[in-house]
Amino acid sequence: MNGAAFFLAVNFVIAASFAAMFAVVSTRSRSRTAALWFAAGFAVASLSAICELLVAYTDFAKFWAIGAFASVLGGLILLRVGIGDLYGVKANLPWAGSFLVAATLLDILIYDLPRGTLMHSFSYQTPFALVVLTSAAAVFSSGRRLPIDRALGGLLAVTGLHFFVKAGFAVLAGAGTTAKDYIHTNYALISQSSTAVLIVAVGLTLLSVLVLEIMADERSNSEKDALSGLANRRGFENGVKTALALAPKTAHAVVICDLDHFKNVNDTYGHHGGDLVIRAFGELLQASAPKNAVVGRVGGEEFVIFLPNTTIDMAVLFAQALRGGTMRIAIGALPDSFAITASFGVAELGSDGNFADAMRDADMALYEAKRSGRNRVKQARPPGFAGVTAIRSVK
Ligand code: GH3
Ligand code: MG
Ligand code: MG
Repeated sequence: MNGAAFFLAVNFVIAASFAAMFAVVSTRSRSRTAALWFAAGFAVASLSAICELLVAYTDFAKFWAIGAFASVLGGLILLRVGIGDLYGVKANLPWAGSFLVAATLLDILIYDLPRGTLMHSFSYQTPFALVVLTSAAAVFSSGRRLPIDRALGGLLAVTGLHFFVKAGFAVLAGAGTTAKDYIHTNYALISQSSTAVLIVAVGLTLLSVLVLEIMADERSNSEKDALSGLANRRGFENGVKTALALAPKTAHAVVICDLDHFKNVNDTYGHHGGDLVIRAFGELLQASAPKNAVVGRVGGEEFVIFLPNTTIDMAVLFAQALRGGTMRIAIGALPDSFAITASFGVAELGSDGNFADAMRDADMALYEAKRSGRNRVKQARPPGFAGVTAIRSVK
């Protein structure tokens, strides 16, 4: 086995492995269809290595040479379709199919032209270049701008252009006079290895895009409460950290809410009825909170809202609105007689304040709201007021 044949064998194993990896990743990815297109792309492209070997070692050189061309181009087109799916810049499938047929016909036409000429080399390489460059364009024209997306776009642009470089190189270095000679040329060795390196880099980058998506999804699931769809305690704390980092030097407010006599709801309407109430209350909080607020369900029927850049007076007004909204909650599956209230504790987080202290103050205010009869809003005095946390009734 000579060097180029060895590379062909390696290329086959690499492409087949990528096909298998994308098939596996598709089972976990939210971009399942894109991952399956990539798997199909690498599977089809892997056939080209077999075709190239058959060109060199069987008597049907032309047939296998055309097969090699069509399988590489078909694989690249499938990658373009997958990238279109992933980046929301869909490929036109009838166009893609027609392009494959037209380019393959062109390859049949130029088959008998002398190799290593400008005419032959560029006619051969241009379809590959065009497909990969449209993939780069799809990535760049999408709204996704993460570093990994830029890396993928750049890599695809380089890979697309390298086909033109190869065409020029074939003219300079010679690509064998016939398809059968090709595999024994230095050009074949360089051509196969440079393409292999770039395609491996593209495959790994695509894989990274999908794996990063899976990791982001896992992370967001681990920070989400399944019943209400709000952040859970971990998600809430991380959300607050981010919000504090965005505006570290201003005053913020925190509102803790707890549904009143919730045990009675469960006792009267069953656990499922209780779940419906928790969900409806979560929806009320999410719908009422400003966009930059962080809303979390941090206990069974206990919720917290972090209000960035908000004075305590504004937060109290907000909590009062929530209190009114809670009394108006109606749930289709529960009888008209159903009614629920909630108690609220509000505290301020000064510009030099500590979030844990503000949570403790809000919790004490909530306790006070419960103790003084429920269905009310209590406010912890601003930090530093008389040295102790006093509770101010606002109902
Ligand atoms: P209070 O007015 O003092 O807050 O009284 P309460 O009954 O609401 O308070 P308590 O904390 O004693 O009870 C909370 C109940 O919430 C107990 C628990 O069964 C129920 N609960 C906690 N998580 C869930 C949940 O996910 N679904 C349902 N349906 N009930 C839950
Ligand atoms: Mg309660
Ligand atoms: Mg409670």
